Amino acid sequence: MMRVALCIAREHDLRLVALALLVCVIGSAASVQLFNRVRASSGHSRLGWVILAAVSAGTMVWATHFVAMMAFRAATPVVLDPMLTLGSLLAAMLLAAPGLAIAARQQSWAGVAGGSLIGAGIAVMHYIGMAAYRVDGIVTWDWRYVAASVALSCGLTAAAFQDLKTQGRAASIRAVGLLSLAVAALHFTGMAAMQITVLKLGNGLSDLTIDALVVTTTVATGIIVGCAAISALIDGHTQSESYRRLSRMAMHDGLTDLSNRTSFMGELEQRFLINGGYSCMAVIVLDLSRFKVVNDTYGHQAGDQLLVALAARLTAILETGEFIARLGGDEFAAVVSYDDPDELRHFLARLRAVFEAPFVFERFTASVGTNIGVALANHDGFDADALLAKADLAMYRAKSAHSTEPCYYDAQMDDAVRERRELIADLRTALDAAAFELHYQVQAIVPSGEITGYEALIRWRHPTRGMVPPAMFVPLAEKSGDIVPLSIWVLRQACFEAAAWPNRYPVAVNLSPIHLADPLLIETVRSALADSGLAPERLSLELTESAIIHDRRFALEQLRALKAMGIGIALDDFGVGYSSLDVLRSFPFDRIKLDASFVAEIEHDDQAVSILRSVAMLGATLNMSVLAEGVEEAAQLAIVVREGCSAIQGYLIGKPSRSLADPEHVRKIMSLKPHVIVDDVQCA
Ligand code: C2E
Ligand code: CA
Ligand code: CA
Repeated sequence: MMRVALCIAREHDLRLVALALLVCVIGSAASVQLFNRVRASSGHSRLGWVILAAVSAGTMVWATHFVAMMAFRAATPVVLDPMLTLGSLLAAMLLAAPGLAIAARQQSWAGVAGGSLIGAGIAVMHYIGMAAYRVDGIVTWDWRYVAASVALSCGLTAAAFQDLKTQGRAASIRAVGLLSLAVAALHFTGMAAMQITVLKLGNGLSDLTIDALVVTTTVATGIIVGCAAISALIDGHTQSESYRRLSRMAMHDGLTDLSNRTSFMGELEQRFLINGGYSCMAVIVLDLSRFKVVNDTYGHQAGDQLLVALAARLTAILETGEFIARLGGDEFAAVVSYDDPDELRHFLARLRAVFEAPFVFERFTASVGTNIGVALANHDGFDADALLAKADLAMYRAKSAHSTEPCYYDAQMDDAVRERRELIADLRTALDAAAFELHYQVQAIVPSGEITGYEALIRWRHPTRGMVPPAMFVPLAEKSGDIVPLSIWVLRQACFEAAAWPNRYPVAVNLSPIHLADPLLIETVRSALADSGLAPERLSLELTESAIIHDRRFALEQLRALKAMGIGIALDDFGVGYSSLDVLRSFPFDRIKLDASFVAEIEHDDQAVSILRSVAMLGATLNMSVLAEGVEEAAQLAIVVREGCSAIQGYLIGKPSRSLADPEHVRKIMSLKPHVIVDDVQCA
């Protein structure tokens, strides 16, 4: 009997050892790559990646082991048990799978725990593999080496997967090194643990077994490379898919799928370079009007639904040379290349029709509209940014003129913008300079002509522009944020002046929606009344529906608090804007002021008369007085009285003025017949 203590260096074929190491490194790299995919995925796809990574890692360990075993020249005949050989492969995969799944978890200990389990799997594979290695001799084990091999395997693998918790290329390369080292260390320490006492001399594995091993390890290496290739393929596919999705997201609006601003600017710049053979180009900016009403009344989901439907309509009308995008919110832009100005006009008409046709949904119906601004390339602007800015300006002009007709840019608009900026700057100093004053317009009961009070209307004595009307600066102050101090001044001034009036007439003050939203409003009103000594019953506040629609709950809370103080509340400009019955029902207004635009039409428009009549009836039902605004002529007064309004205001009985009206004069005008009044006014 001969006892052989095997020395690794002497007993191994170094070329095959090198091959084993190569298989080990390639396999480790594939496994680390697949593990990174496990981490990046979730749900079912994570399970798929775990299986693929486990197959790769298990096969790598197994192939490394058996190539190394081919390198090992035992001095005795060796046969391999096929079932155990196969079992060792399965064991490696089955332990690697949960190990990989654990290592991919978020917890700080996950890398160590999962890695240790994978390391244990490598060891189990090795020792089952060694059990399959049947020698003609007595095998004894040095358990210290066995323990060391298992510890090395688990420790190094744990280190590899813990390292992978930090992402990046360097961590992956270190992990490949550690994993390869774990497999190699386990193998060679494990082999050092084994001593064979040879019973019969021989030449290790038979040629047939070696051939079989060559085939299987080649197949195994193929499997590993295959796994990596599949992973790279899927990666590539997902990457190009996500690239496609990302670039679509970057160029399209997520909600409507229309092109977005970036894409629009790109298209515009492109057309400035090559205009597709056309001689002209125009940029059109469209602003969706009344969109806020839909959002405020039916909720944002309804608003989104409307935008999607609108986008579908817009896309459907596009012809060659036309391009449309959503710039954001409720603003859209189009560019059209053309030769004949008629083509531009037709496009504008089609766009307008799209916005103006009502939108009918299951839950609600909406009729919106649009303000359109147009700017012409090389006439109004010479590059994409300039042209869009000019079209935008033109759109604002259309909007402020409440025009649904397309508005073409002209150079004066730039002057208007400059003027607005100057006015805003002047506004800031006007309060300190005491440049504002209040004029009062009389309101009277019909048909008696008895005065019911005065409305305070602000005037601005501008040092260079003369008298600036409120329609010109109140909206500017609302935008610039100067409205609240201005509004406080009006309120206090009106209270102080009214308190000093010889007749105890009530005074009505207009309240901006922005001031209604001010949490300090109640306190401001209270102190204005207290400081001026005006009785609360002599003050009323006029506000429009838009003030309530904005933040309904808070607005109603404020109104209730004001009413509880004894102040009157009037709903101003009723009939334009929302005209919502809901608003009327939600609060007990003292007065409804029917907008002047109805009165202006009642002589010629039956529909205006029937609206006037319904509002008068509504007022009677809800116990609110109805005042008709803007009564300029006796004929209008006659109709207003006939249809049941209870009060009027208008140039007929008095223009806004610093001095109060003469009650006798008002009564006299009311009592006269229409033709007499006309004569009277003409004589005056
Ligand atoms: P409003 O509250 O509807 O005020 C009535 C406007 O109609 C006043 O214009 C008044 O001069 C005008 N008006 C009265 N009777 C007639 C008429 O018979 N024919 C015509 N054509 N017009 C008539 P004004 O003073 O230029 O005020 C315009 C708007 O500015 C007001 O409309 C109101 O919304 C706002 N405003 C005026 N003063 C203030 C204020 O102190 N605070 C706030 N927040 N807004 C104010
Ligand atoms: Ca008013
Ligand atoms: Ca009004």
